[in-house]
Amino acid sequence: MNMKFFYLSSNPDFNGKLLIHERSCPELPSPYERDYLGAFNSAFEALKNATEIKSNVSICPVCGCKEEIYTLRHLSKKASE
Ligand SMILES: [Zn+2]
Repeated sequence: MNMKFFYLSSNPDFNGKLLIHERSCPELPSPYERDYLGAFNSAFEALKNATEIKSNVSICPVCGCKEEIYTLRHLSKKASE
């Protein structure tokens, strides 16, 4: 299967979010500033897993799939209604 490896940044970005990165991301933090999340089919799956550990997580806008970010916004909008 086409699994990708994902990492969670240890340091929040300027929005206070911990970003999820794919291994090949140019913005991937150094090994001292990231935690290995695991192998998933998509960034969205990695996000679902990460939210069970931390509450303030978000998909990196550089390596994250735009469609997945859209889905996430759509879901969170529904949840707040
Ligand atoms: Zn990234």
